[in-house]
Amino acid sequence: MQTTREDIAYRKSHHMKKTLMIPRTNPSWQPQSWQEELSQLITDPRHLLELLELDMSLLPLAQKAHKLFPLRCTHSYLQRIEKRNPKDPLLLQILPLGKELEQPEGFVKDPLEEHAFTPAKGLIHKYHGRVLLMASAQCAINCRYCFRRHYDYIDNTPSRLQWQPALDYITKTESIKEVILSGGDPLASADKVLFWLLEQLEQIPHLHRLRIHTRIPLVLPKRINTALTDRLKQSRLQQVLVMHCNHAQELNGEVGQALNQLKQADVTLLNQSVLLKDVNDNTQTLVELSESLFRYGVLPYYLHVLDPVSGAAHFDVKEEDINALHREMLALLPGFLMPKFVREVPHEKSKIAAV
Ligand code: SF4
Repeated sequence: MQTTREDIAYRKSHHMKKTLMIPRTNPSWQPQSWQEELSQLITDPRHLLELLELDMSLLPLAQKAHKLFPLRCTHSYLQRIEKRNPKDPLLLQILPLGKELEQPEGFVKDPLEEHAFTPAKGLIHKYHGRVLLMASAQCAINCRYCFRRHYDYIDNTPSRLQWQPALDYITKTESIKEVILSGGDPLASADKVLFWLLEQLEQIPHLHRLRIHTRIPLVLPKRINTALTDRLKQSRLQQVLVMHCNHAQELNGEVGQALNQLKQADVTLLNQSVLLKDVNDNTQTLVELSESLFRYGVLPYYLHVLDPVSGAAHFDVKEEDINALHREMLALLPGFLMPKFVREVPHEKSKIAAV
């Protein structure tokens, strides 16, 4: 397909690196809108260490790891990180570390071999009845353990004019009942882009559900505004939002308000976490996460074992520890607060029980 001017503008808005910065001289800076906050991410390791009053000896390796997968963090998420604590569980999810430079055997760039399940640009069809669309090339935060940290978003995220083959594929495959918007983070897209895609999907008669996989309600809660929730409420598709919260410390009042707005728009709220060494790999933390999620109106759904992506091996939890965590949580939680422990295995027809 020929590339037009609109196409180029769209790609630029989605793929170009945003410039900093939270003004260094004004630590009490408050963004006025989600767009402003998204345009003022913390993307410089030195700035992050300064804001959190961390030891500057962390800087040289942080800069090296940042070159492999850039630092991105929102102002809102930063507020929930404890200052002067290099072991803070939220900090460990976003701070580039020297350990990412190690290359242990078995950790690869595309651990789920997603390229093998892409019949049309931006579409992954792996499991029966549902497809995943790469609805955005950007995230509001870069999670160091992300299994798509090496993903080529530029080549694989369609612009508006390039969505047609994926939409045609869904239209002619009547067994598809559900579309999952993923990315990147689908809610990092502008309303105009997101609503256009939603409108296209609503016109496909055999689709029943829209699922949104996102970390935005946690890391950029201002994004969950009335314009978004009103549009979701109007949709003929049933809506499920799968949030991605790994630690109870990620939840606060602002996040609670965002989740409430979604609930009022009849969106079903679920959560999936990733089991991460030194972040949430102990029973007390995981039990507290499940209990807190439920207080915020969200049901724990999956606890994923880490996908073996290169650069994230230091987050891996040993098999025997996973089994022990599962046993201990079962003894402490009611069944509806117990997430399923799962792993993804390339070419399997569903996720696989991890214990
Ligand atoms: S928000 Fe999701 S897609 Fe983006 S870096 Fe984090 S885990 Fe990966």
